[in-house]
Amino acid sequence: MAVKIFIATDRLDSVLEKLSTKIDLLIPASLKDDKSAPTGFVPFVPGTAPAFDRQTTTPLKKALLPQVETLLRFEYHKDPQGSPKSSVTVDDQRQVRPTLVFGARPCDVKALTTLDRVFSNGPYVDPYYVERRKNTLFATLVCRQNDAKCFCTSVGGGPADMEGSHLRIVPVDGGYVVEALSPEAQTLLENLADAPDSARDAQAGQIVEEALKRRVGELDTKGSPEAFRKRFDQTDYWFQMINQCLGCGVCTYVCPTCYCFTITDEVENLKGERLRSWDSCMFYHYTLEASGHNPRPTKLERYRNRVGHKFSYIPERYEGLLGCCGCGRCIRSCPVSIDIRQVVGHLKENTSE
Ligand code: SF4
Ligand code: SF4
Repeated sequence: MAVKIFIATDRLDSVLEKLSTKIDLLIPASLKDDKSAPTGFVPFVPGTAPAFDRQTTTPLKKALLPQVETLLRFEYHKDPQGSPKSSVTVDDQRQVRPTLVFGARPCDVKALTTLDRVFSNGPYVDPYYVERRKNTLFATLVCRQNDAKCFCTSVGGGPADMEGSHLRIVPVDGGYVVEALSPEAQTLLENLADAPDSARDAQAGQIVEEALKRRVGELDTKGSPEAFRKRFDQTDYWFQMINQCLGCGVCTYVCPTCYCFTITDEVENLKGERLRSWDSCMFYHYTLEASGHNPRPTKLERYRNRVGHKFSYIPERYEGLLGCCGCGRCIRSCPVSIDIRQVVGHLKENTSE
């Protein structure tokens, strides 16, 4: 039988502290002292209040694909005899500690299936991502705080979708019922807290039932790859959709399924670091070639690529998997209110010929 515990709200901090002696913990929390500040997943420190009541501003992908990470360090060695030949030593040690993300949302965990296809499958496996992925567990909240920008059930997810999760957290009266969904999670729950009483257990069951039935968003994505291809050359359509875009790139930085990156070397004297940093396909320089040619010279081509990537190229390449988890972050964060649901929703209009 699955192990379940009840964590009373006023004991959450001490239970998390105990849990953090077994495994490194990341929790959703405010990124500044101010409670209304943007939120993200941060290492647990006793006394930090988890922000379970809202979706984080920065996505969970940051835990597996950091915004900036050192891929390796290198050092050149000059030949003391003055020969023009020199040698270089490279250190690409990865130090990844087992980590539990406590309080992820189902959409964020779902988004990792897109990153998995890109970084873990196929001819180019990314050892940095794979190592973190193998060592990270997810305790996922049954979501009761979806808002008007969320559309997870339109893209194959749902507020109680536990695919990829190791523990389920159900907010109930006075606290949380936490249930192990995998053997390694079962071990984590041992001796942490008592089992829920029958009333709370029943309430948790009802909340899960209700969340499993709840529809979140009405976007119809059926046939979007074909509709996108038909729309591809209709510049009027794309211009009308994204005319007001500022090209700020926020939509890509907050998106849990975007994974564009750039690699740079930072060198001082004979030592250096190779860094990988998030980049954005919404930026002109992302696709600028050394020749000066740019295949996506305007925001029209760049935004069209962003939509095509998520609703046409990824599903065509990965057997129907959509490159969007419906978290709504790009809609909430866009300074000029561009709504990807409208762009995708209108793809199929008047394209029957
Ligand atoms: S495209 Fe927008 S709604 Fe879809 S996963 Fe990215 S941020 Fe979320
Ligand atoms: S957030 Fe909005 S304005 Fe900024 S690049 Fe994305 S679509 Fe354009």
